[in-house]
Amino acid sequence: MTNAAPYLIVGASLAGAKAAEALRAAGFDGPVVLIGAETEMPYERPPLSKGYLQGKAEREVIYVHPAEWYQEANIDLRLGATVTAIDRAAHEVVLADGSRVGYGKLLLTTGSSPRRLPVPGADLDGVLYLRSVGDSDRIKAMLGSAASIAVIGAGWIGLEVTAAAREAGVAVTLLEAAELPLLRVLGPEVAQVFAALHGDHGVDRDSVCRLPRSPARTAT
Ligand SMILES: Cc1cc2nc3c(=O)[nH]c(=O)nc-3n(C[C@H](O)[C@H](O)[C@H](O)COP(=O)(O)OP(=O)(O)OC[C@H]3O[C@@H](n4cnc5c(N)ncnc54)[C@H](O)[C@@H]3O)c2cc1C
Repeated sequence: MTNAAPYLIVGASLAGAKAAEALRAAGFDGPVVLIGAETEMPYERPPLSKGYLQGKAEREVIYVHPAEWYQEANIDLRLGATVTAIDRAAHEVVLADGSRVGYGKLLLTTGSSPRRLPVPGADLDGVLYLRSVGDSDRIKAMLGSAASIAVIGAGWIGLEVTAAAREAGVAVTLLEAAELPLLRVLGPEVAQVFAALHGDHGVDRDSVCRLPRSPARTAT
């Protein structure tokens, strides 16, 4: 190992964990620090709206690497740590607790976050967002007790949650600002097929209504 300043990766999810893996695979033998705001080991999000949400996949399937990999690859994984500032002059990042971590190279893999709904009542209990594994756990628990839910946003993730809810026997009203689900990604012909498919599975399409568009997506 060299005494080089760490290669610091901020954002311990799929991109961050894969970047750490790629550094080792390419022969980088200096210190690598991987910092993430979440307390969970780096994990992949697709199962959170699919098999994991439906209870068909165990939690282990979501992780990018098993826990021991980080030790074996000598990756200093620091979880539950949020970077609040970058001090470029000092080559350091500042964490929420005020501590600092120095870096030789800095890679930001901070991903994205869901748009929050800018309407009155959006912060009431029972209004859930789906981004993290904790969110998926909360939605899974809710599907076990709710008789009916409204899903706001008929993109891939909204439709997958809708399908999981219908499979759990929960009535769903699907709300989407566009005329059809998936219209933006698939165009009107295929979007119509998805709309019909969900209608066939008992999703309340008559109630589809327009909601105010939220501000542009912000990357964190
Ligand atoms: C429910 C769901 C289902 C999905 N299904 C699919 C699918 O089927 N197919 C597909 O291709 N994609 C899917 N996606 C999208 C896919 O998960 C993302 O493209 C992927 O997670 C991006 O990975 P990332 O590492 O770049 O960023 P992210 O997963 O967003 O991770 C960024 C990480 O950085 C951390 N972070 C952010 N800011 C800071 C900070 N200041 N300090 C420290 N840490 C910070 C965050 O806490 C987060 O853990 C899905 C996403 C979701 C939410």
